[in-house]
Amino acid sequence: MSKEAEIRVCKNKECQKVLPAGYKHKYCEACRNKHAETAKNVLKGLGAGAATVAVVVVTGGKINPKK
Ligand SMILES: [Zn+2]
Repeated sequence: MSKEAEIRVCKNKECQKVLPAGYKHKYCEACRNKHAETAKNVLKGLGAGAATVAVVVVTGGKINPKK
């Protein structure tokens, strides 16, 4: 019986770091962090954009109260 050690490398072609045995992700920690940061920035950008739109909609929808 041969127990083969499954050697997997990071899916990022520019990285290809050897992943530890039992590692359940396709990308190494560094690449995952980088990816998460990118996703977060995109979400943040979307969130900021949505918030701006919401503010514009709210202020635009409000008629200035007469005094
Ligand atoms: Zn990597």
